[in-house]
Amino acid sequence: MRRLASGTFALALFSAVAAALSPAPNPTPTPDHHDRKPEDVFRLQPLRGNAYALYGRGGNVGFFVGSDAVVVVDSEFKDIAPGILEKIRSVSDKPVKYLVNTHHHGDHTGGNEAFKTFAVIIAQDNVRKRMLESPQRILKEYPKELEEAKKAGNAEDVKFLEDAIAWAQKVKVEEIAAPVVTFDSELRIHVGGETVEVWHTPPAHTDGDSVIYFTKANVIHMGDLYFHDQIPFIDVSSGGSAIGYITAIDKIVARVPPDVIVIPGHGEVSDLAGLKGARQFVADMLAAASAARKAGKTKEQFLATVDLPAYQKYDGYKDRFKGAAAIAWDETAR
Ligand SMILES: [Zn+2]
Repeated sequence: MRRLASGTFALALFSAVAAALSPAPNPTPTPDHHDRKPEDVFRLQPLRGNAYALYGRGGNVGFFVGSDAVVVVDSEFKDIAPGILEKIRSVSDKPVKYLVNTHHHGDHTGGNEAFKTFAVIIAQDNVRKRMLESPQRILKEYPKELEEAKKAGNAEDVKFLEDAIAWAQKVKVEEIAAPVVTFDSELRIHVGGETVEVWHTPPAHTDGDSVIYFTKANVIHMGDLYFHDQIPFIDVSSGGSAIGYITAIDKIVARVPPDVIVIPGHGEVSDLAGLKGARQFVADMLAAASAARKAGKTKEQFLATVDLPAYQKYDGYKDRFKGAAAIAWDETAR
């Protein structure tokens, strides 16, 4: 999510937990494209049937106010989680009893710590697993990245990686605010008259993705299965897949009514047509890779020339499109 000088994407797993633990107010390494201008943080958008979207600096927060409890989806970063809670409490004084994480990335789980004393944190099994194994993985993978960043003279990346390694060396696994209730495929939360459906999808953004559907409100939170008007980040190192995006989105589209309100992981609240547009981008990228293979091109030739003009307005087209296209190539059978 954060592009390093070496050309790879730093694992979002560091911020997955470091953000929850870092004592400093704002040094949390954040994926570049997730940063928002300060005036946008805590922008509240009422949707339908007591469901709300809350925009921030990380992944979008969704929440539902039931007759006796509030259900929250994703927690952004530690330093802004108190502000998120304040905003939720400006809408309702009902207790925040449940927090669902759509996946393990730090811009969606970094604020978990602020919730864990009063809310049950819920996510798919792999989210907990990935959060708990992140220190090990950082110690294994980041030193090499650090060497490369130093060679390239990229001070920002060096700091990010050094902080991550220092955190991984000292953190205790039990301090990580991971989900405490986990599930395999589906789970339902009953709040007053509302049923909140949590559906694990085939691996797409990661292998722990869930979407959260508020059935009566008819609002769905897609997590990072939906980047609205943005190039999606496909976290292959966490089990993600471009083809998986297509499969996952198709399954969801088949389960929700056409007038559903859609909260993306990043970008403005949208509708089913918007979600289908994001699916089309991935489909077009896969088709381009497939066509290039059929034409006998190498991966390098494909990446040097691939261009999808219809999506040039997407945020991240300049700096992330080729990375996504490379994943599409790798997944396209000859
Ligand atoms: Zn993510």
